[in-house]
Amino acid sequence: MRLILLGPPGAGKGTQATQIAQEYDIPHISTGDMFRQAVKEQTEMGVKAQSYMDAGKLVPDEIVIGIVAERLNKSDCVQGFLLDGFPRTKAQAKALDEILAQLNSPLNRAINIEVPHEDLIARLTGRRVCKDCGSTYHVVFNNTDQEGRCDSCGGELFQRDDDKEHTAKERLAVYNKQTLPLINYYKEKGKLDNIDGTGSIEKVFKQIKNALGSTGNDNN
Ligand SMILES: [Zn+2]
Repeated sequence: MRLILLGPPGAGKGTQATQIAQEYDIPHISTGDMFRQAVKEQTEMGVKAQSYMDAGKLVPDEIVIGIVAERLNKSDCVQGFLLDGFPRTKAQAKALDEILAQLNSPLNRAINIEVPHEDLIARLTGRRVCKDCGSTYHVVFNNTDQEGRCDSCGGELFQRDDDKEHTAKERLAVYNKQTLPLINYYKEKGKLDNIDGTGSIEKVFKQIKNALGSTGNDNN
């Protein structure tokens, strides 16, 4: 099963990725891990990427794509993979199709976890941190017994700048601008599965399994 996973920040992608990787026995390949591994192993592309990062420069697309190609050529990807965080743009999606065409293993599905904007804002802005002991809470998922007070030490809670609404809105706007063309790309190819990401972890995962059911044992 060769899959990519799409979804905005706050959609619960990481949790679902872990479950998908387990269920289908495929590696979960996140962009960050893939880069760290390539640099650590000093692969051809890893060395090139490192020279850009050391210079504080953005790694060019051809090297990013090269790192993906190196990773997908590894033996643990023979039965498939779940790509998370790549592709981010339509150009990268086309490059991925070319890599997979060379491997004679086209992509099976693109899973897109959808959550309404207001819910995402609530999830992304709900974190609260204790000023005294650093414990973290979440007003939606893990609230305190007493409003604004830490359960363990009684300290006052505050909201980090990263968790403020304008930051969350900015992140979502960037995501939407970048990813909508990508979603349309997979839609046109008939490979897109839109998944309702609002329910419980189990409920969301069940939908993913249902969507993938028809391509279950297809390794070609
Ligand atoms: Zn505390």
